[in-house]
Amino acid sequence: MLENLSGRLQQVIKTLRGQARLTEDNISDAMREVRMALLEADVALPVVKDFIAQVKERAQGREVLQSLSPGQAVIQVVHEELTRLMGEQNSELNLAAVPPAIVLMAGLQGSGKTTTSAKLARLLKGQKKKVLLASADVYRPAAIEQLKTLAASLEVDCFDSNATQKPLDIAAATLDYARRHYYDVVIFDTAGRLGIDEAMMAEISKLHTLLKPIETLFVVDAMQGQDAVNTARAFGETLPLTGVVLTKLDGDARGGAALSVRHITGKPIKFIGVSEKVDGLEPFHPERMASRVLG
Ligand code: GDP
Repeated sequence: MLENLSGRLQQVIKTLRGQARLTEDNISDAMREVRMALLEADVALPVVKDFIAQVKERAQGREVLQSLSPGQAVIQVVHEELTRLMGEQNSELNLAAVPPAIVLMAGLQGSGKTTTSAKLARLLKGQKKKVLLASADVYRPAAIEQLKTLAASLEVDCFDSNATQKPLDIAAATLDYARRHYYDVVIFDTAGRLGIDEAMMAEISKLHTLLKPIETLFVVDAMQGQDAVNTARAFGETLPLTGVVLTKLDGDARGGAALSVRHITGKPIKFIGVSEKVDGLEPFHPERMASRVLG
């Protein structure tokens, strides 16, 4: 993940470290390299521009230029600004609701919603929560069965919906069931189309109104690069998202989405998907990610 970006930035770092003295020109050259590296990693252009402007301003300040090791000081600025870009703090899942706390999963088909629902259920079960999975994906053949199978393998309960039911009816029945059986958390998986369409957005909006989720997570495939951010923005305009899950960061994704999502959508990345397996979910730590990128 992010190997290319990391490699290129390390090259810049090496050059900076090698300079006994730094001038504004040195810094401008280094920033040009950083800019190229970020663009190649599919970081969105407005994000790159803001980032570079911010780093440049700080790096050309007296504090950095007059420091004992200016190269190191610039690297520190890049690290801090990368961390800030991704949201600084880890944003935890918020389950502070009158039980059952509802987590609504949104995203395009194939983004990893069903897999991520199961991963979250596993995580919460590990925290001794009584978790119910449910699916209203009545359009994709076998989606509900996929969730039921995953739930069974995790020994987590799954609401018994089927593809002949209407999504809103499934939602209402799930809520009723979860209340009567005292579940702590319901993870509600929804249908995802291949692209954003009005019918899909209208449906998930209605589900949102009915379920009143405390968390509405947008699941997006990091391999989509720039499109990941555009889709996140489109969903964010329809739904009050509370966070993003970036999946498939184990693949050969260039990873730019990780750096752009927060800045463009204003929503924190809460988790990253790092494998197909049910244990392949990690909390997202901006600082650690920045360190990983800078090597
Ligand atoms: P949905 O249509 O959004 O419900 O997507 P699925 O959960 O069915 O996932 C689509 C495909 O992506 C499946 O083959 C999953 O195994 C795979 N997948 C999901 N998350 C990850 C991940 O973090 N890493 C990898 N490598 N594969 C993933």
